[in-house]
Amino acid sequence: MNDTPAKERPVPPDALLDRFAAIVGEKYTVREASDMAPHLVELRGLYEGRAALVLRPGSTDEVSRILALANETGTPVVPQGGNTGLVGGQIPFDTGNEVIVSLTRMNRIRTVDSVGNAMTVDAGVTLAQAREAADAADRLFPLSLPSEGSCQIGGNLSTNAGGAAVLAYGNTRELTLGLEVVLADGRVWDGLRSLRKDNTGYDLKDLFIGAEGTLGIITGAVLKLFPKPESRTTAIAGLSSVANVGMLFEIARRIGNASLTAFEIVPRIGIEYVLRHGQQTRDPLQGPHDWYALLELSGQKADGGAEDRLEAILTEALEAEIVEDAAIAASLGQSEDFWRLRELLSEVQGHEGGSIKHDVSVPVALIPEFVARASETVTKMIPGARPVPFGHYGDGNIHYNVSQPPDMDKQAFMARWDEVNAAVHAIVKDLNGSISAEHGIGRMKRDLLPEVKSAVELDLMRAIKKTLDPNGILNPGKLL
Ligand code: FAD
Ligand code: ZN
Repeated sequence: MNDTPAKERPVPPDALLDRFAAIVGEKYTVREASDMAPHLVELRGLYEGRAALVLRPGSTDEVSRILALANETGTPVVPQGGNTGLVGGQIPFDTGNEVIVSLTRMNRIRTVDSVGNAMTVDAGVTLAQAREAADAADRLFPLSLPSEGSCQIGGNLSTNAGGAAVLAYGNTRELTLGLEVVLADGRVWDGLRSLRKDNTGYDLKDLFIGAEGTLGIITGAVLKLFPKPESRTTAIAGLSSVANVGMLFEIARRIGNASLTAFEIVPRIGIEYVLRHGQQTRDPLQGPHDWYALLELSGQKADGGAEDRLEAILTEALEAEIVEDAAIAASLGQSEDFWRLRELLSEVQGHEGGSIKHDVSVPVALIPEFVARASETVTKMIPGARPVPFGHYGDGNIHYNVSQPPDMDKQAFMARWDEVNAAVHAIVKDLNGSISAEHGIGRMKRDLLPEVKSAVELDLMRAIKKTLDPNGILNPGKLL
């Protein structure tokens, strides 16, 4: 067992770096700091680090040999997928003693089983690539994130990614049948089973899903596929309050039932940001509304038209004056326009100065109370601050982001991050919610974990970490 904290371990000497490089070949080893740059910083610039090397293995066997050597020499390793994570888990610290293992080259679709509705892929395939492979087999892989062009299945699994389709299909954990994982000592666990029923003891795959690279490196996965919906319709509704969004959700759930495949919320300020900074966007309804709900219904033709149900939902809500105005997309193009308003939201906030972010969930029925209390608290703390609460209403998952007051210094605003987080998280805890609904813990929330986990939970988590990674080489300093 190596008890030296990872950050106090020496930078690997050149001879050791050469041994690592020999495993993947010099061509797939990145040694120069300037060439490593894209791997050392995350896209919002919140975290930046240094690394001894970036290794780009091309096979499970190479990953296995890398970890065996790292384990033997106590070298800390940072697994990296598409580097789109939002909590800094994929970025090394600034010690310069860590080796990044980038899965980008492991991007093969291994098999697609359209009878068993399952697909086996390398961990480095991008989410977009996985969705395309499913589509080519006339199936749906429902996980969908705005980052899907870059993020990888291994990263999705390691963060248990969510997104807009969770409401109908569940998060990444629920979309996974099997895994292949390289353990800290280099052994390979082949758990690539596609069985729907398998009660033969502990479900090991669930340990690695959401582990943020701290228990093993995922190299392959068996993912669930679904029939491709034959019809899909989208609507956008304008409402005067979050409470009304809640009432609309109740109607949509009741009438839409299983065909309700997304229910997202966007505040007016979010639409304004998108209109100001996004390409090819336009105001979706005639006049402005304080809140917008984006609804998607999909299903098979035999189940009856998704369109009829969507119309029934909106008619009931309009008659009850829950909704002020609404539009159903008349074409695929218009549906994409509606979705673009939601998908651009993450990106456009950056054009409005500093943004203090929260990725929280509360019981759905308590969202109106949460938003009201959080906004009151935050604007009292920083007069002029602009709350932008948006996200996956149907899952109780709100991205409670706060833009700086337009006339405030960005640095001064961002310096209040911890204080604002603490105040918002206190409300979340009071409502029995979670301080990380879908992005994970990483570096950003590591120190907050003891506040939200019981001593028993922390003990169990540390015991698992010690058993699977006794030398502390796997993404040390993240999560735990
Ligand atoms: P990375 O960022 O590279 O890594 C994330 C974590 O996983 C790190 O801890 C890393 O060490 C670990 N890891 C990566 N690959 C492996 C592997 N093969 N084995 C073991 N550990 C590994 N997330 C959501 O959940 N829902 C959203 O709606 C959403 N929207 C987003 C929108 C935008 C515009 C952006 C930029 C991000 C969004 N995200 C969202 C966050 C991000 O895309 C997800 O967390 C994604 O799952 C990360 O995948 P990645 O391949 O980029 O992983
Ligand atoms: Zn999200």
